[in-house]
Amino acid sequence: MLAPAARIAAVQKHPEFAEHAEVTPAARIATASHGWRAKCLQRLIRLDLPVPRTVALPFAAVRAIAAGHRPDAAAILAAFGPGPLVSIRPSPENPDWGGPGTMLNIGLNDERHRQLAETHGQAAADALYLRFVQAYAIHVARLDPDMFDGTEPSAEALRAALRAYEQETDEPFPQDPALQLTQALRSMARAWEGTTARLLRQAKGAPADAGLGLIVQAMALGMGLGVSGSGVIQFVDPVTGTRQITGRYLSQSLGRDALDKGPDTLYLTRDPRGPSLEEHAPGLFADLLRYGAACRSRLREEMQIEFTIENGALSVLDAVRVPRSSRAGLKVAVALAEDGVIGRDEAVLRVEPRALSELLHPQVDPRGGRDVLVTGIAASPGAAVGRITFSSAGAQASAARGEPCILVRRETAPEDIRGMHAAAGVLTERGGMTSHAAVIARGLGLPCVVGAAGLRFDPRDRCLIAHDGRKFREGDIITLDGTAGAVLAGEAAMLAPALDGDFRKLLSWADEFRDIGVRANADTPADAETARDFSAEGIGLCRTEHMFFETDRLIVMREMIFAGSATDRAAALDRLLPMQRADFIHLFDIMAGRPVCIRLFDPPLHEFLPHTREGLRELAEALDRPLSEITRRAEALAEFNPMLGMRGVRLGVVLPEIYEMQARAIFEATIAVGRRGVIVVPEIMIPLVSAVREVELIKTRIDSIAAQVRTKRGADFAYRLGVMVETPRAALRAGDIAQHVAFLSFGTNDLTQMTYGLSRDDAGRFMSAYVSQGVFPEDPFHMLDVDGVGELLLIGAERGRGARPDLTLSICGEHGGNPESIAFCRRAGFDYVSCSPYRVPLARLAAAHLALRDRLGDTAKETS
Ligand code: PEP
Ligand code: MG
Repeated sequence: MLAPAARIAAVQKHPEFAEHAEVTPAARIATASHGWRAKCLQRLIRLDLPVPRTVALPFAAVRAIAAGHRPDAAAILAAFGPGPLVSIRPSPENPDWGGPGTMLNIGLNDERHRQLAETHGQAAADALYLRFVQAYAIHVARLDPDMFDGTEPSAEALRAALRAYEQETDEPFPQDPALQLTQALRSMARAWEGTTARLLRQAKGAPADAGLGLIVQAMALGMGLGVSGSGVIQFVDPVTGTRQITGRYLSQSLGRDALDKGPDTLYLTRDPRGPSLEEHAPGLFADLLRYGAACRSRLREEMQIEFTIENGALSVLDAVRVPRSSRAGLKVAVALAEDGVIGRDEAVLRVEPRALSELLHPQVDPRGGRDVLVTGIAASPGAAVGRITFSSAGAQASAARGEPCILVRRETAPEDIRGMHAAAGVLTERGGMTSHAAVIARGLGLPCVVGAAGLRFDPRDRCLIAHDGRKFREGDIITLDGTAGAVLAGEAAMLAPALDGDFRKLLSWADEFRDIGVRANADTPADAETARDFSAEGIGLCRTEHMFFETDRLIVMREMIFAGSATDRAAALDRLLPMQRADFIHLFDIMAGRPVCIRLFDPPLHEFLPHTREGLRELAEALDRPLSEITRRAEALAEFNPMLGMRGVRLGVVLPEIYEMQARAIFEATIAVGRRGVIVVPEIMIPLVSAVREVELIKTRIDSIAAQVRTKRGADFAYRLGVMVETPRAALRAGDIAQHVAFLSFGTNDLTQMTYGLSRDDAGRFMSAYVSQGVFPEDPFHMLDVDGVGELLLIGAERGRGARPDLTLSICGEHGGNPESIAFCRRAGFDYVSCSPYRVPLARLAAAHLALRDRLGDTAKETS
């Protein structure tokens, strides 16, 4: 049995908190227990880099300190020999999770200050002690940082700081190094537990119980005699990823001082702009190059190295992964794989799919300033600078003058399509992720911000009014940041897209690994070209109605809508037929035999009519009818709930001529390209089905048109018929429906709208309130609702495949390009996803990640 005193000592010595370890090549240091920095320093030590002596405190020890246990500071300091000066740095599990700031020069007191004055000179000794006193006062004693603002180091400044400390705390500045270390460790451990720090790291994905390790390291003093200073070096450009030495060195400095880039900092390698470390100390510079190369090949990463030179001796204090933009991240991953440092699979996994959108479009340069006028919903990524225009006609005029413009509307309507084509970016005051503007802009690859409710649009005064009262008129220049969902005043500095060889190489590697198909939603030849350029495996959704918004067709379309009799309608459709045929020939040629899935006409006819009095008047003129008749007929076509009205297959049932014309155009185009050797099996998709009888009716008519075309043209062809599952009933009745079709494609935009009973065009008005109050975890038009809509997908898939095992399954709503939806569809056994052409690269990469992660999981299971 222990004597009482020994028992108390044993209890006080918290078993976990005693576990500090000197970081040596053999020590047991793990990221999960000591944090990334401790692990990284151990790797540097194993590479034989001159890292000063380092002691790592694990998460458990830091937790115990935060809870009030006294660290054994004397034992820690003993590891550093007599009279050490040390620093403390944070070491969380993931560098992105933050942590308290580094503290330097712990151990400095009056006595050490006197010694340093002899060994390193008075000025260096004063500066070092002053720095410590200030840091201790602010971070440990919690004194007001303003007290020390702008203090230049000097003997007088040091005396003043010591005096201020004593006056504010009623105690002299602590002279005992063990006490200094104890208090510094305690303040850093507690800072990690603070509410703000907690919230910040949780926002970056840290678990609630994320731990912090602390690193105590012997100081290398970059102040004093000979060549002394500190700096940071990296071997790639953090924005572009090109191999190039960047960073700075500052004589007589510590830590990351050199990064302030004051007038005295040196470049690292020779530079026409000023003197460099390479010229100043070529031997040390050569050592840094060697260390950088060792880090790259052995740590398998581009590292940023923090170094100090003390009287000509180089120390490496720390190395972190070079912070980088998405484009730099991709370039580095490809370069490492090409040099054989990492495998292709790892390179693919190192690039986040969502980061790709940053490479596909111009972006606002993060190095420039941002004068944000308003933030809205980031509906389509990329950035554009242009002059404000409030009308589609204005946008077209601007394009004709060769002047980029930003089309600003309350919301867009189908007739704005030409204006959108002409604009460099689109901004709407209303709308959400699946509003007209958002869907079209994503399809066109145009930057777009919607739901910018903080920006007031005054149509009468024709100006935009920002929160702060600033007014912007037609012709004023703004920058639209569709990636961040922001509108900036004036012309921001931009970065060009990065669709270079590295981008393509990485995606081709991704294709080697993925196991679910990726197609594109493409309506026009330009979309199809983009889709092909991004290596989509086909078109998963061609919304044919978009083909009718071109000026020459719109008028014929309107004639068809206003036809007084079946004969008149047939005459208008006869004029549309060759245009549609030409559209399909063009698409088939571009896709060169890859599958093309064409959706029959879907929207309510009313969408094709003008919505202004002026437009109606022009139409009356074009159709040579009285305005009153045109107005009356247009009003008669209006519906209370057009999204639930005469649209989709309902039009096909009631006005069969439209679908018949489209089927004829598709088949004739198939024969035409077939004669030139482009063999296509077109896929025809029926929208908005809710009853199997709808499918039977349409199928019979399309089969009969196929037979007519075969006979008339004397040519044979195959085609596949499918149904777009957009109503809950279609999902529930998928078993019946599948007996008549070869494929089902889930249109999750409408399916979400109908499952929730939530208008996709109006939900933007209250969606943010719903999400912020936790009613919906996310906007379901943006992120697939796996619990509700997802269940309908699973039911539809299961019942459909139950009736027809070879049924092709896919998704073609806007969700199709989201990594989360792709994961869901892949698990449900879907054959492919289809998304906007500009999301195809992201989908290809996300699909590869899923397959690779499964493989890694399997390997882990096999080896455990
Ligand atoms: C859908 O509803 O998911 C779909 C793709 O069709 P649209 O967006 O054209 O209604
Ligand atoms: Mg739909």
